Amino acid sequence: MHATTLRVAGGLDKTVVELADSHTHLDLINDASIVSDAVKFGVSTIITDGVDTRSNARALELSDGKHVFAALGVDPQHAVGMGPDELAFNIGIIHGNASRIVAIGEIGLEYVPPSSPAAIKKQKAVFTRFIELAMRLGLPVSVHARGAISDVIAILEESGMQKVHLHFFEGDVIQARAAERLGFMISIPPLESNKRKRVVRDVSLDRLMAETDSPVVGKTPRDVERSIRLIAEAKGLSFEKVAEAVTANTKKFFNIHGEKGFMRY
Ligand SMILES: [Zn+2]
Repeated sequence: MHATTLRVAGGLDKTVVELADSHTHLDLINDASIVSDAVKFGVSTIITDGVDTRSNARALELSDGKHVFAALGVDPQHAVGMGPDELAFNIGIIHGNASRIVAIGEIGLEYVPPSSPAAIKKQKAVFTRFIELAMRLGLPVSVHARGAISDVIAILEESGMQKVHLHFFEGDVIQARAAERLGFMISIPPLESNKRKRVVRDVSLDRLMAETDSPVVGKTPRDVERSIRLIAEAKGLSFEKVAEAVTANTKKFFNIHGEKGFMRY
């Protein structure tokens, strides 16, 4: 591991080991220098998530097996309108690249705004299909659960899936404890809320990861610094200690040890 000098808010230069962004959408950031900028800043591990056919292909192209790692999936919004052939095509891409990707994601449920019963049924069918695929391939899952955290936890618990990353955690302390009891990981975006602060305070540091969900919430993976600062403040720990812990958690969860082979599509 190499030390990187990172300028944190407040103007102090602090030496941290390295940072990791556990959930981003690099395909939506139209800037070729984004990865080198992030790496220079200290964000040396970036997980980019696909949500549909196009972004899955792009995630594979962007992954370099060194700093950028791909998770492939179909998110709930795209699951609703996706026909069986396109779904099978995406499952085929995952099968064909199973040794080169680090997770199946983004998958999950989305209830905001409220979906029709038919749409929820379709979301659940696709979510379950990807959980089964992940279990068969021995891959972890990165899960979206907006407004749907209870259903997501119930479905995952029933499936027996254990390597679970609940991205952009929006549940309360009770739901966080349920996730923790099941051995799930929770990731924290660079967005402050009192509810999330209570969750961060309550959950063990070894269950936490940091993310940006950029460009949707953070602008770029560099904003993972803000997510880590929120965790540090809520827990009353130093930035360095939290950075080191959540980076190690991320690499362990996604099974990243050194370099992986380049992705092929
Ligand atoms: Zn996302």
